[in-house]
This record gives sequence, structure tokens and C-alpha cells, in this order.
Amino acid sequence: PVVTRFAPSPTGSLHIGGARTALFNYLYAKGRGGKFLIRVEDTDRERSTDNAVKAIFDGLSWLGLTADEEPVFQFARADRHREVVQTLLATGHAYRDYTSAEETGRLRDEAKAARTAFESPWRDRAPAEGDPALPHVVRFRRPLPATVVVEDQVQGSVSWSTSDLDDLVLLRSDGAPTYNLAVVVDDHDMGVTHVIRGDDHLNNAARQSLIYDALDWPRPVFAHIPLIHGPDGAKLSKRHGAQAVHEYAEMGYLPEAMRNYLARLGWSHGDHELFNDAEAAEWFDLAGVGKAPARLDFDKLAHVNAHWIRLADEGHLARLALDAHVARNGGASEGDEDRLRRALPFVKDRAKTTIELADQTAFVIKRRPLELDEKARAMLAGETAERIARVRDRLASSADWDVIALEAELKAFAEVEGVGFGKIGPPMRAALSGGSPSPDIARILAALGRDESLGRLDDALQ
Ligand code: GLU
Repeated sequence: PVVTRFAPSPTGSLHIGGARTALFNYLYAKGRGGKFLIRVEDTDRERSTDNAVKAIFDGLSWLGLTADEEPVFQFARADRHREVVQTLLATGHAYRDYTSAEETGRLRDEAKAARTAFESPWRDRAPAEGDPALPHVVRFRRPLPATVVVEDQVQGSVSWSTSDLDDLVLLRSDGAPTYNLAVVVDDHDMGVTHVIRGDDHLNNAARQSLIYDALDWPRPVFAHIPLIHGPDGAKLSKRHGAQAVHEYAEMGYLPEAMRNYLARLGWSHGDHELFNDAEAAEWFDLAGVGKAPARLDFDKLAHVNAHWIRLADEGHLARLALDAHVARNGGASEGDEDRLRRALPFVKDRAKTTIELADQTAFVIKRRPLELDEKARAMLAGETAERIARVRDRLASSADWDVIALEAELKAFAEVEGVGFGKIGPPMRAALSGGSPSPDIARILAALGRDESLGRLDDALQ
């Protein structure tokens, strides 16, 4: 069975690059009846923070990428990592290196000047020559000479000569396990079959493969995906705009749209641009992942989001719009959510984000009496005011209060008065919406409901 994992280092919030890596792993597992796991790589105690752990889990859960098992925390597994190092020592695949830090630095410089790899003098000494009670690190004894080949599912077959690598430290002098060792032990113990991650880890795959081989553990399948670039093709950075997943949530993108968009970022399936979760899981494969970095395209993201807004459940959208209004106005009133729900069908086809949805529905959240500007006041005077009072009474006596009935009432009213709709629409809109963006008059009335509509007209005629 397929087991994939997302292994973030908790040093900041979840970025869209990480989110995409998590999504690829998630889809790969889901499409194959497998498991998707999460491992928090918190071995760097200086840089790992609890806030970052929380931010990453919040981002993943907003995106709907939940793991199939409890998350694994790498630092808590240090004893297990040390145990594996004992095995490597016992089998001769690792050795204790008693060279002092200064001496190591000096030897490294020498090796650099001679254009050779640094080798510790302890690599070839008998273990009995050293005293394990003295300070030392433990190094991996790489096969030399040898070629290590990684059959990467995205990069193809990649090979390294081990003479270009060095003997990796597995345990530091304080006994702390190092990163590459921990990754191998954890992936093995978690039963990970497929490692899908950023191509900045490709060189680590060579080192990790040697450790797998030394332990006689089967290597996982590796797939190193190109990083995400900005619209200009340069490596993604702050100047390209939002990077953290929570910023996209705040800008009004839906998680289902982010999933759809991120899935297409670096992976393709024919010319499908819009697809749901089941299709994504069914179609996702490593063969469709490109070798060239994908570029962020904000227009495309907006397009995908608009699609998902049109398909979203209206009750759910109403709550999102309400949250946005509450964030702006600091509170909600009774009836706001109902009015939003009624307004949504009239505006959602044009909205690219839930923020736009909130802008387009702001008119229903306004509190009576609405603030009317100079121009609206002037429009609602004299003859027009009298006409608005008459239309108000006609509407008040309408048996039904829905778009069809209201349109019919307005049309009949214009006929009876012998005026074009241009004489009725603009002042009514001013009175009912206070100048906010709004749909046509019958829809404004339908969204507001009878009492609120009549109340706003009354206020304007005061
Ligand atoms: N913790 C690593 C990172 O955040 C990922 C390592 C891996 O996936 O093997 O870049």
C-alpha cells in the first residue's frame, strides 16, 4: 500500500510551496487507496517554534489536507535515531570521529585547496583506537569509490559519484541526531513508500539512499518536484505577493479553489483546468509533474476561485461573507445571515473572491437609517419623493415578495405612472442601498425582505 508524507520544518507559516507538496502527497495516496501522513521535522531546536507548528496545522486543516494518522514529531524520536546509529556502528557503516572541531576545519580547508573531498583520519582507523568516553561525532562511512543512482520519478535517473560527497555526520558531539539520518529512520519506520518533495532535496536523496542501502532497508520511491516561481519566472519571494496559505484565506480564496489551483501548479492532466477532489485524486500521477518550475498566475487563481464560488453551497458562502462583514464591522445583527443568503444568488456569479462577495453584499448588512449622501438626498426630494412614497405603498400591498412578483409590481407601477424606469430605479437604489454596489432593484428588495425594504424607503422619505 502506498504511504506518503508531508514533512514540514516548523520555522514559519505554511507557504504555498509547502502546501502544494502536501497536496501532491495527499492526492498521490488518496488516488491509490493509500495513507497520507504528517511528520513535523522539529530537530532544529533553535528555529522550530510551537507557533509555527500551529500555523502549519491550521493551514493544512484549512486546505482540508488531514493526515490519516496522528502526526509524528521528529525530535521526540531521537532515541530511536541513536539506536539506528548503533546498528550502523556495529556493521561498520559508521565510525566515531574524534577529530576536534578546529582540526576538522583545518583538514576541510586543506581538502578544499586540493580540490578533494574532506576525509576524517578516523575513517580508516580501528574503532579500538578511540575512546568513546571522549568527545566525538559519529559519521556515516560511505562506500568509496561508488556511484549512487536515484531513479527519480520527476528528474529521471540521477547519479552521483560518492567521491563528490563526504562522510555525513549522523550524531553530533552532543549526541543529537542529524537531519538526513532522522529522515531515513522516520520514513522507514512510518512505512513511507513514496517521498514527494521539493527538488532542493535532490542531493539529500543521494545521501539518504546510501543510508538506506547500508541498513539494508528498501529505499522509497523518490519524486523531486521543481519549486514554484513567481509570475516573472524568478524564485518565489515576498515581492511576488502572498506566500502564506493563511493570506490566501484572508484574501477570499476558497480551500477547494486553492486545492484545484495548486494541483495544477507543476502538474497537468490533459487540458483539464477545473476539477474536483475526487477527479484530482483519480488523475494525479507523477508522470504528469513537469521538470520546469511552475509559475504562479494570479489571474488563473482568480478564475479557478470564481468557478468554485459559483459551485459552493450558498449557506456556506453566506457564513463566509458574514465572517468578512463581522471582521469589517465588528459584529452582526439578527437577520444579517438570512439577508446575505438571499442576496448571494444575485451576486455570486460575478465574484472572484469571498471578499468581493462581501463587497457586493455590503448593502444588506447596512444598518437603518442608511447614511445618504448629498446627491442621494437631492435625488429623493420633491416629485421623486412623492413617487417613491407611492411605489412604497404599492410594494407594501404586494402579496408575494420575490424577484418575479417584485419585478411585476415595479413594471406595473411604471406603466400606471406613465414614466420610464429611469425615474424610479436610481432614487430607489439610493434609498435602499445607500450607494453600495447592488444588483437590480427587484433583487435588492428580495434580498432585503419586506420589512427592511419598506423601512429603508420610509427612512429615506423622512
Ligand atoms: N523538512 C524538510 C523541509 O521542510 C522536508 C524534508 C523531506 O520532505 O524529506 O524542507
